[in-house]
Amino acid sequence: MKIIIAGGGIGGLITALCLHKNGYDVRVYESVEKVQPLGVGINLLPHAVRILSYLGLSAKIAEKAVATEALVYANRYGQLFWEEARGKFDGYRWSQFSVHRGALHLLLYEKCLETLGEDRIFTNHHFESYEERGDKLFATFINHSLGKVQAQVEADLLIGADGINSVTRKLLYPNEGRIVFSGNVLYRGTAMLPPFLNAASMAMIGSMKQKMVVYPIEAVREESGLQLINWVANVKQDGAASRVRDWNRKVDKDFLLALYKDWSFDWIDVHQMIQASEAIYEFPMSDRNPLPKWSFGRVTLLGDAAHPMYPIGSNGASQAILDAAALTLALNTNDTLEAALRQYDSERIPATTQVVLQNRKKGPDSIMDLMEERFPKGFQKEEIPQEELQQIMKQYKEIAGFDQKTLNAKEETL
Ligand SMILES: Cc1cc2nc3c(=O)[nH]c(=O)nc-3n(C[C@H](O)[C@H](O)[C@H](O)COP(=O)(O)OP(=O)(O)OC[C@H]3O[C@@H](n4cnc5c(N)ncnc54)[C@H](O)[C@@H]3O)c2cc1C
Repeated sequence: MKIIIAGGGIGGLITALCLHKNGYDVRVYESVEKVQPLGVGINLLPHAVRILSYLGLSAKIAEKAVATEALVYANRYGQLFWEEARGKFDGYRWSQFSVHRGALHLLLYEKCLETLGEDRIFTNHHFESYEERGDKLFATFINHSLGKVQAQVEADLLIGADGINSVTRKLLYPNEGRIVFSGNVLYRGTAMLPPFLNAASMAMIGSMKQKMVVYPIEAVREESGLQLINWVANVKQDGAASRVRDWNRKVDKDFLLALYKDWSFDWIDVHQMIQASEAIYEFPMSDRNPLPKWSFGRVTLLGDAAHPMYPIGSNGASQAILDAAALTLALNTNDTLEAALRQYDSERIPATTQVVLQNRKKGPDSIMDLMEERFPKGFQKEEIPQEELQQIMKQYKEIAGFDQKTLNAKEETL
């Protein structure tokens, strides 16, 4: 079966590796001219790392990443109220990794060039349209900057893995409304700083009105004792609805410095961290309403093209990786393409819909608002409602598919 993938991001490349490993004839067509290490930090949860392990990638990723040991929550005064172990430190068979998106992307790109071959990965090929004739599909790719046709490719299946502004999705749902804006804007950056806590913790500070997520994405450097720290500020800004969704849009740091001026705690100095960051990127936090169907004829959707979600609960890349595994398995185990795509849709649409909707309700981060509402001026240790917090965290893990018992019972296969 000849399969073409539109979009060589995290989801597209992992899908290519899964399909290739299972004997499919697969090609990837990426819009940009040159693959570059873009973005800032990203998290890979144990259920996705299981698939990366199956692909033989987890040792290589571990070299570039931090195996996250703990997740901690604190209020806007820096008072810690929740701590839980993560990944292998919590008894999962697989790690949770925090890694630079660009480093991960380049690693996947190089692995694809090496295993699929250079003649299977095309850059500067922007997917524009397709048509189905008889039992084949014909896709057209253009040189985006020149608007010139680059290639017309025949295939049995087209996978649209072309991200939050997906052309494939637009072709399948031409009348779908605009992206849904959350009312919050994310500001993201990285800085080389001394490690905080145990040098392997992810910290969530504040509430949904004004939040800061901080986690290291590289090991501590021996020569300087410093570590690359990733941060994401989440600020309520209703007026930002019309701003462009471009992961690489840079902004000035002055207003953030003013906003976080009092956030210097004995275990982390948020203000200094923003000050020490070279570039700051803006992204109006958005998603789309879940779809009832991803697969039509010889076309299907995957990753952010299928289910863009708020980056809460570390699930964006992880869910794309789960899609890749589910689609490959469905193709392996069904006699017809139609049956395989039906299985893929019926497995992955309900699962990702739940995560999209749960993230709109703040996902696990709802414990931050709970603490802010109950203790706006801070709390005494004995006032922390541990059982209530425990219940919220447990429920999210079940929804997102990384409930420990269920996951640990799985083999390291698709
Ligand atoms: C440049 C960039 C930076 C990002 N930075 C972050 C970050 O810092 N933190 C975070 O949580 N998430 C970030 N993301 C999003 C994150 O990678 C995804 O949410 C997640 O990994 C799911 O992956 P995906 O492959 O579905 O989408 P993406 O990773 O967005 O990949 C989509 C790919 O499709 C390509 N593409 C788009 N349109 C076409 C087309 N018509 N034809 C062919 N190719 C096309 C894009 O260039 C891109 O490579 C970033 C995405 C991008 C593209």
